[in-house]
Amino acid sequence: MKVDWLVIGAGFSGCVLAERIAKELDQKVMIIEKRDHIGGNAYDCYDANDILVHKYGPHLFHTNSKKVWDYLSTFTEWTPYQHRVLAVVEGRKVPVPFNLNSLEILFPKTYSEKMERLLIEKYGLGSKVPILTLKKDQQEEIRNFANYVYQNIFLGYTSKQWGMKPEELDPSVTGRVPVYISKDDRYFQDKYQAVPKHGYTEMFRNMLKHPNIKLLLNTDIKEIEGVFGDAKKIYTGPIDSYFNYKHGTLPYRSLKFNPLYYGDRETFQETAQVNYPNDFDFTRMTEYKKITGQNVPGTTVIIEQACPYHPEMNEPYYPIPKKEYHQLYRKYAEEAKALQGKVFFIGRLAEYKYYNMDQVVARALHVFEKEVQPIYSD
Ligand code: FAD
Ligand code: UDP
Repeated sequence: MKVDWLVIGAGFSGCVLAERIAKELDQKVMIIEKRDHIGGNAYDCYDANDILVHKYGPHLFHTNSKKVWDYLSTFTEWTPYQHRVLAVVEGRKVPVPFNLNSLEILFPKTYSEKMERLLIEKYGLGSKVPILTLKKDQQEEIRNFANYVYQNIFLGYTSKQWGMKPEELDPSVTGRVPVYISKDDRYFQDKYQAVPKHGYTEMFRNMLKHPNIKLLLNTDIKEIEGVFGDAKKIYTGPIDSYFNYKHGTLPYRSLKFNPLYYGDRETFQETAQVNYPNDFDFTRMTEYKKITGQNVPGTTVIIEQACPYHPEMNEPYYPIPKKEYHQLYRKYAEEAKALQGKVFFIGRLAEYKYYNMDQVVARALHVFEKEVQPIYSD
């Protein structure tokens, strides 16, 4: 078979580019995936009890990009879904991102009213303040409050999740979940929030349903290197692996998932996700029925525990946003430059970037329009 493009990895980055190249450019695409399924980390499937679960952790789609939303909507219908998260603090469950409701639950009325007033005066109702910024506030009372939130919401969770303290990471990490001066309990405020009506995997299947696309599962690119000699490549795996770790191994965080099934319960917890910043050695528990809206007896909950990543032993789920690791990544990015026009490095692993799904889709569409399509424009 003639292959014009070899796409390595069948996650969001790989599937978007395979689809665009096959449909818009009428080129033949071979997509190679080392796992036994498509979808990358957004893969979902029915477990032994027929409950739809996200195998690699909870995936909530949210975006403000109409372009990304419209593009994906050609491959799926959606179930509207607004994510809500509670965190256990001193035996009570409070909304996260920490907001004015969390404040009211944890503190006596006189204190919470006063703090609410101070926060609104200083930052304005509806503002989002990263905890590391709030901790540096000029007013001592606000700093004391920030230290409480830091100790009870961020320190333990971040130490478990990343193996380091919030200050050791790029501030954008804890900035993803800022203190929200609001009574809005939703985890995200994006315009579009939903999950694919028939699951992520079904959406990916529709993306790859094109006569120009052939899929090869259970195959690591390293096993078949050179077979498709002339084909241009889209590479979405770890960039250090592509270059045989010649500058050293890029660190990632990995995860362990522990599923629990409760056949005799309709529901397990109040919200789809409950975080445990201070208790236990795991970070969060996710109840999937509450995300998908699936109407079945019994319920499945998956516990997530972070751990170090070792190539060959587990999966690289999270690039670690930290200056020195970014510098190491830059060495690989320089190597990648020499392959410009022949190999395109895209996605969370190939760009060593803590991308959300919508960001990866936007990035893949951008690369298609600005770098791939122009090759054929003469
Ligand atoms: P991946 O999904 O990692 O796909 C890369 C693929 O390449 C994989 O399938 C891998 O097996 C394959 N591959 C790697 N190396 C090779 C090789 N040598 N040969 C062949 N194949 C190879 N985003 C959100 O927007 N909302 C969320 O709620 C959310 N929750 C998340 C929760 C967790 C626990 C994690 C880990 C991520 C979450 N994300 C979420 C982020 C989301 O998963 C990513 O943005 C997205 O999946 C990245 O897509 P990708 O194609 O770049 O990478
Ligand atoms: N975080 C925290 N406590 C929480 C929730 C989040 O400390 O209850 C911090 C933690 O460092 C985490 C980061 O904020 O890794 C980003 O959280 P998010 O929910 O976006 O993580 P993801 O879903 O990507 O794992």
